[in-house]
Amino acid sequence: MNELEEWLKECMNVFPSLKGMKIECKYKKLPKNTLGRIKGKVFMKRDIDVETLLIEGKAKVKIKREKPREYEIEINEKLKGIKKEVIRKQIVQHTIIHELLHIENDDLISLTKDYKRRKKKKLHVKEFKNEVFKRYNEVRKLNGLPPIERKEGLDMAIGKIVRELEI
Ligand SMILES: [Zn+2]
Repeated sequence: MNELEEWLKECMNVFPSLKGMKIECKYKKLPKNTLGRIKGKVFMKRDIDVETLLIEGKAKVKIKREKPREYEIEINEKLKGIKKEVIRKQIVQHTIIHELLHIENDDLISLTKDYKRRKKKKLHVKEFKNEVFKRYNEVRKLNGLPPIERKEGLDMAIGKIVRELEI
């Protein structure tokens, strides 16, 4: 198991709703200011109304969007520049938890629906960020680390790392 798989597995412990889902995690070259992102396969299913076709002769086809069942979390490869593993693990796990919460919230399927909605939907609202912080501290606890007391401190630390590594 590589480090990302191992760290993802630990994070999955605080996401019981995602149990059994196929999620992979990889280091990738990502756009500026992006620590991580998710990719999911959204399947489109064409569904035909049999009666309309056979009685009226007209094809009525509906496109149904299915919830993705497989996801890939991409972690900015520049994070590998954090030499101390214990520190790298914390930043990567915080990023993983952020992405897992998007999966739990079904943000991806809403994102791909249409561009107008995509622009309107705010993903990183305060409650979202607080939930990431809460779950992150739960994972720390499982790893025998003390909780981080204030979210602001963590935000500052991540900001500093992002600047230092020129992410
Ligand atoms: Zn996000």
